[in-house]
Amino acid sequence: METDFIPLELDDTFRFACSPEVPCFNQCCRDINQYLTPYDIYRLKNRLNMTSGDFLNQFTVEHIGPQTGLPIVSLKALPQEDLRCPFVSDEGCQVYEDRPASCRTYPLARAVSQSRDTGQLVENYALMQEPHCQGFDQERVQTVREWIEDQEIEQYNRFNDMLMTIISRKNQHKRSPLDLREQHLFRLALYDLDAFKTHLEKKGFPDGIKLDGGKREALLTDELELLAFGHHWLQLMLFGKA
Ligand code: SF4
Ligand code: SF4
Repeated sequence: METDFIPLELDDTFRFACSPEVPCFNQCCRDINQYLTPYDIYRLKNRLNMTSGDFLNQFTVEHIGPQTGLPIVSLKALPQEDLRCPFVSDEGCQVYEDRPASCRTYPLARAVSQSRDTGQLVENYALMQEPHCQGFDQERVQTVREWIEDQEIEQYNRFNDMLMTIISRKNQHKRSPLDLREQHLFRLALYDLDAFKTHLEKKGFPDGIKLDGGKREALLTDELELLAFGHHWLQLMLFGKA
């Protein structure tokens, strides 16, 4: 049987619950193909008290999108153990409070597109009804809006939308794939936050970005500010305009 995708509005309801009591508990954390966003990496590397460079080396693999040249980071599955997620244990997810956006959002999927007319991002949700998942047999019913709140997905979406803006701009204005230098800049600003901070400390801020002293200080001491800034910095580097 194949997965059904059922479009849902924010106030539509769906029946689903996941807990250690479901017979399929942990099954979906095996045979993973788990992409990580820049915000996912920020959460996980801090959860594990690692630098972004060490986290990327130890827990992720990267491939380059063949059409776009975009570096895409995924969790490195454990090949000797059914390609399971490195963070799953018999008790469940060991990084639950900082699990990636896609783990939180499931069984929903969120798609975002940018309107060519207004430039606004438009989000759509769909229910992914996978035959192996017995969460759909549980009693709990909620709206999409309630699920987003319950799973604390908003902060993830906020940063993921910044990434989507960059990808949309790239698709609209730059038809050729990113070259090696551009891939390095993308990796540096979005995935390797500690190296990005060191880069700014050594090389300074580009002329095209106006910052007062307080803002500069905030960027070098607050990683969330730095991550948001990295998205602006990267747009300046790739498109000549933030
Ligand atoms: S991060 Fe946690 S919830 Fe997500 S696949 Fe891994 S173990 Fe499962
Ligand atoms: S397959 Fe569905 S119900 Fe089972 S553990 Fe995964 S999300 Fe939960």
